[in-house]
Order: sequence, then C-alpha cells, then structure tokens
Amino acid sequence: MKLNNNKLLKASSYINGKWVNADLGNTFDVFNPFDNSLLAQVSDCGQKETREAIEAAQEAFKVWKNYSADQRSKLLRRWYDLQMENIDDLAVILTYEQGKPFEEAKGEIKYGASFVEWFSEEARRIYGDVIPGHESNKRIVILKQPIGVVAAITPWNFPNSMITRKVAPALAVGCTVVLKPAKFTPLSANALVVLAEEAGIPKGVINVVHGKKASVIGKELTENPIVKKLSFTGSTEVGKLLMAQCAGTVKKLSLELGGNAPFIVFNDANIDKAVQGAIASKFRNAGQTCVCSNRLFVQSEIYDEFNEKLRKELAKLKMGNGMDSGVNIGPLIDENAVKFVEGLVEEAVDNGAKIVCGGKRLEKNSGIFHPTILSDVNIDMRVFNEEIFGPIAPVFKFETEEEVIQKANDTPFGLASYFYGNNNSQIWRVAEALEYGIVGINTGMISTTIAPFGGIKESGFGREGSKYGTDDYIEIKYLCMEIE
Ligand code: ADP
Repeated sequence: MKLNNNKLLKASSYINGKWVNADLGNTFDVFNPFDNSLLAQVSDCGQKETREAIEAAQEAFKVWKNYSADQRSKLLRRWYDLQMENIDDLAVILTYEQGKPFEEAKGEIKYGASFVEWFSEEARRIYGDVIPGHESNKRIVILKQPIGVVAAITPWNFPNSMITRKVAPALAVGCTVVLKPAKFTPLSANALVVLAEEAGIPKGVINVVHGKKASVIGKELTENPIVKKLSFTGSTEVGKLLMAQCAGTVKKLSLELGGNAPFIVFNDANIDKAVQGAIASKFRNAGQTCVCSNRLFVQSEIYDEFNEKLRKELAKLKMGNGMDSGVNIGPLIDENAVKFVEGLVEEAVDNGAKIVCGGKRLEKNSGIFHPTILSDVNIDMRVFNEEIFGPIAPVFKFETEEEVIQKANDTPFGLASYFYGNNNSQIWRVAEALEYGIVGINTGMISTTIAPFGGIKESGFGREGSKYGTDDYIEIKYLCMEIE
C-alpha cells in the first residue's frame, strides 16, 4: 500500500491518547479482500483494555464537556480539514481493507468528513429553551447537556463514515467516545484517529479498542455503568443482543440495523432513470449497504423492458481490484459473504427463479460476484425475506399499487425504500404508505449529511446526520425555579 502520509497506518488500539498493544500481546490479521494478502496485524484487545478505554473516556469527559462550543467546533473543523487534505490516502486504506472501488472510497471519505464538518457547525447550536411558567412565580428553563461516555460499534461496509457520523455529533455536544470498529476494517478507523490527534482533540476524548472477539468488548461496553449511551450500526441480530445487554444499566440507544429495501417502478416511470437508480442503490459497494435496494418490484407492463435495460447496463460494469481504474464492482468482504449470496441464488433458482445475467463468481475462488438479475422470483424465496448484502437484484412483477405496498411492507425491516413514478397523487399515497424511515422518490441516492438517516421497525431507531443528529447524545434537563 503506497501512501503519501505513512503516519496514517496504525495497527494498535488507541486509549487515553496512546497507541497501545493488547495486554497479552495478541494480534489478529487483516486481509485485502481482493487477493487475501495480509495487510496488518492489529492489537487484539479484550475486556481489560475496553475498561481502561471507558475509564479514560470518563476522565476526559470531565474536561471536554466544559470546553466552549466554539472550542469544540474549531477542533472538529480542523479534523474535517485534515480528512480532506488526506483524502487520497484515506481512500487507499479503505479500498485495501474493504474492497470497494477507489473512486467510491473517495466518495465515502467525503461523505464521512461531511459529518464532521456539519457537526462542527451544529456544535454551536445546541440551544436550550425557556418555557412560560405554569404559575406566575415559576420560571422554567430547559438545558441540553451531553449524555456522557458514548460507546460506538461500527460495521465494515462503511469503515469511515459510520464512525464519523457517530463520533462527530457525540464530540460536538461534549460527549467522549469509546469506539469498536469492525475487525475487517480497523485501519480506516485508526487513520481517522491519527488525524483527530493531529487536529488537537485531547487525549481520552476518542478511544479505539480493536479486537477479534466482538462479544467480549461488546459485553464490557454494554454492561459498564460508566457508558451512558450505545450507538450501533450492524445486523439486526447483534443489535437485539446489544439492546438486551444494555437493559441492565438502562443505556440510551441508537440502533441502525438491517434493511430489506423495496425499489418499486410503476408503469408510468421514466424507465431509463429507474434503471440508473437501481444500479446506484443496488450495486454500490457490490450490494453491501444497509440501504441497498433488496427487492425490485416492477409493474407488469414494463417488467420485461426494465429487466432488459438493466441487463444491458450491468454488462457495462467492470469487476476487479478496487485500486484499478474504472472498476465498479470489487470483491465481497470475505469468503463467507460470497458463499451466502451463492446460497441465495441457488435457493431461488431451485424454486423457479431465472438468472437473467450473472449468478456466479467472476472465477473460481474469486471474492468477486457478478452483478446478477433474478427474474420470476416470488415472496417465498429467501431473496424476498433476507438482506442480500451482495450484487443480486431479484425483480418481482406486480400488478397494482395496493399489491406492491402490501408486499413492500411485508418485512420486519424499515430502513430505506425507493419508488419511481410520475403521478403526483400516487407519489403522495405511496410515500405515506411505505413503512420506512427513508423514501427515495425518483432517485436511488438518498444519503446526505443534512438529512436524518435511520429506520423504523426492526431496522432500529435514532437518527444520524441532520439537525436531529445530536439529539441522541443529549440529555434534556428541566429547571423549575420559584422566585419571590
Ligand atoms: P455485519 O453484518 O455488518 O458484520 P455485525 O452486526 O456482525 O454486522 O457487525 C457489526 C459490528 O458489530 C462489528 O463491529 C462487529 O464486530 C460487532 N459485533 C458483532 N457481534 C457483536 C457482539 N456480540 N457484541 C458487540 N459487538 C458485536
């Protein structure tokens, strides 16, 4: 890996402003998913180091919460500037450890940094309130205060931006953080922390604990009473477990869990635009995003035309090493991920689905899976019910609006949804009927710092980004004063 700034590459954990190895000296390996080459051996920490990080964050909180909003704002802004100055290096590290194409990685770094920029601005706007008293001699004032030490557990599919959109709002309001990144992508997390240190963010304000035994670190983060809030992005299964573990200490929670996004195309839609939207929302990051369209529903009159146009566009996508120019589809994160999507395709085909294109790996033992369209799919197949997390587009045929709304909502998940159509009344009806936290209308790209990102139902709760993004890190305190 060639970088301009080699200081960004760190393989240790970061506790109380120091890069530290695991107490027992253990490490775990990090591989490039494209060729399985070894990238780093990262400190494999456990409960003790996690506890130290939590205690460091608690000490730092006493100081950081008393920084003025202006001081915190400026430090975050400096951190943002450094991320933009190092954008190419950050993207190289990301592509090496995660696999996504370099240009897409750069897009993620910009997106990730935009949370730091946004919350550096929001830091100055944590306004309280004054409420007219309920009695003539009563005065009521609302204070907004930082909740305290925050635990953040993040996934590997966005190794940069899932961190900044938790850490930046937490820091902006005066919280301190213990971060546990995914074991596949520790290097992107560390590079961010190197820059945070360079920006002047004080020791203990951000701590990072790496380890391959997520459950051990997770147990300490969820059970330690010092931690006042957990923000988690990952699978619904793990989210439920963490929620249960947090019950003992009644921690505030934000959960951004799995999705099963419908992508609906009505007869009167602009089909070319819908095809482009489907590619953007389905095949970005090789289908490994929680807002990826998972189930495409196309109305019967345009079903064949849509599939054919999508097939032609998919044929243009280039597969390969994310570091090679022009590549659109990189490898899936590991062999298990490839086996999982292979299993989904096999089960669908066994039950009558047709492979319009793709359906297999690029070559034997490759981690890259062909962009795939499955037609003639039905709601009993696994591709209807499970989060695919790979470049497979099952395309379901539907007849009526009522039918498609029922099917789109027929899932415990409720994160992102998309639809294409041109009838104003239908647009309102469908937008209101979809049981999802996010609805993309005639667009497949819905992620932006300035809008509230988050789900409903078993996709979780809490909102990240936007003016609402600091709420989850704040306690509301009400002062009731009686005057003479
Ligand atoms: P993904 O499908 O994105 O890997 P996971 O929910 O398995 O979803 O992982 C998301 C994050 O949660 C990762 O950082 C992972 O290490 C962490 N994680 C997984 N299991 C646990 C657990 N039992 N306790 C705490 N964190 C966990």
